[in-house]
Parts: sequence; structure tokens; C-alpha cells
Amino acid sequence: MKILIIDDSYDAMALAKVRLGREGHTILCATNGQEGLEAADREAPDLILLDVDMPDMSGFDVCRRLKASPTLFMIPVIFLSGSGGPEDKVRGLDLGAVDFVTKPFDAFELRARVRTALRTKYLQDLLRDFAVIDPLTELSNRRALDERLGQEWTRLVRHGGVLSVIMADIDHFKAVNDQFGHPAGDEVLRQVARLLIQSCRQSDTLARYGGEEFAVVAPETDLVAAAEYADRLRRGICDRPLNVNGQSMTVTISVGVASSVGCETVQELVRAADAALYCAKSAGRNCVKAHQEARSPQPTP
Ligand SMILES: [Mg+2]
Repeated sequence: MKILIIDDSYDAMALAKVRLGREGHTILCATNGQEGLEAADREAPDLILLDVDMPDMSGFDVCRRLKASPTLFMIPVIFLSGSGGPEDKVRGLDLGAVDFVTKPFDAFELRARVRTALRTKYLQDLLRDFAVIDPLTELSNRRALDERLGQEWTRLVRHGGVLSVIMADIDHFKAVNDQFGHPAGDEVLRQVARLLIQSCRQSDTLARYGGEEFAVVAPETDLVAAAEYADRLRRGICDRPLNVNGQSMTVTISVGVASSVGCETVQELVRAADAALYCAKSAGRNCVKAHQEARSPQPTP
């Protein structure tokens, strides 16, 4: 695992590096608070060893900033300090550190405390994965999608730009379940998920929205680009037959697209994409409809 040591003392750093390097971890070093925060942001370490006594920014200040960051607060911090007074220990733990080691540290104790912190981090990551990953398709689940949508909406409100949402639904999925059974239906969901990943941009969140419905959050993508993107997804499914229990099967998806332009809330954006998906179903399935079209008035005969 990756451990970041933030300490202004080269001797302490070198010692910790030798002691922990033997355990097979990757050790990163920073010699002041600012550098340490930047390294944490860039490298996403699994654990931070943080010296309390540093000039400019103390370890306590660094910890406070880490714990205030929405992306870094989950990284466990172990404080290293020359003074082992109870006040410092209490302060460090109250700031959110998981442990406190007094310098000069005993190698065995340091390794044991690091192991404990890393074990907890590993379990925490595992729980996190369970909470945000759909077990059947291994895509993000609805919770992860809602989280990403919330983040992107906040960014949009703050910095402007455009955000699109794509909703896709497998056509006549119930018939697959009825005809071939639910295990075959599950296999179709898995294979469709895999094909969608292949057509998706890596930076976008692709999620199983529920049942046989999938969603893509596409930041910095306007309605026209999102509709083209959605059609790539659609073709990626209907052009490639699935193999389910040795049987070749072609499935299709209907896709709805909406962009944030004209939407007041993120819920409205999702509803718009859903409405567009409904239009794609009504229009005969295996097609893409953008919400703009869905809204345009129908000519009266
Ligand atoms: Mg120091």
C-alpha cells in the first residue's frame, strides 16, 4: 500500500522509510505541510504519517485541512511527535488522527501501528465498495450515481458549463427473463454492462440505475454531443450479439438524453432524461431521443 510521510526531519524520514519499506509498501515523502497536502491530493495514499512539529504549517494544521477535504478526509493519519505529552495526543486524536507515535519510535511498534491503520483502511475501502458498486454488473450503483450527479451539479452551479445525463434501458428485457429464465437475464445485464463500458468515456460515471436501466453522467457535454454519444452506446449494443449459455442473442437499448440547460435542479435533469427515454420507447425502441425533441410541440393534424 502507499504511505505518505510528512516530516521536516530528514533523519526521522529516512528511518521511517527504511523501517516501513521492508514491509513492501510504497513510501512517499514530503518535508513540509504544503508539499504534503499536494502529495496527498496527487497520490491518494492509504496512510499518512504526519510530524506534529514543523515550521510554517504544523502537523495539526495539515490534519485539519486533510479532514476538511471531501476527497482526502478518509485517509487515516498517524501523528509522529517528539513530545509525547497527553495534551498533544488528545488534540491529535480529536482532530481525526487514528493514532499517535512518539519519537524516537521503536521500529516494531511503528510497523505494528501502521499495519493496524492499513488493515482498518482496507476494510473501510471494502465497505465503501460494497456501498457504491452494483454486485451483479460491477458498475457504480444508484447511490454512487446520485453522489456523482450531486458533485457535478455543485460544480456546474459554481463554475458554469453544461452537464448531460444519458438514460438507457434494455428493450423487451422481461421477455428475456420469461423465455430464458432469470440467470440468463442476469447474464444479459452483465454483458450489456461490459459493452457499455467499452463505449463509455473513462471520466464519465456509468451506473446501473436499477432493473435493466443504466445511466451515464457526462460532464462538459452538450445535448448534441450527448445524443451522438448515446447513439454510440446504442450501436455498441445492437451491433454485437451476446453469448448467453452458448446461445447467440441480440438485444437493443432505448436511450434518452437531457442536458442541464434549462434545468433548475439536478432532479429535473434526471426527470428530463427519463422522459426522453420514455419517448424513445414510444418511438419504437432501439433509438435515441433527446429531451429537447421530447419537449417540442407536436404539430396538430
Ligand atoms: Mg519536526
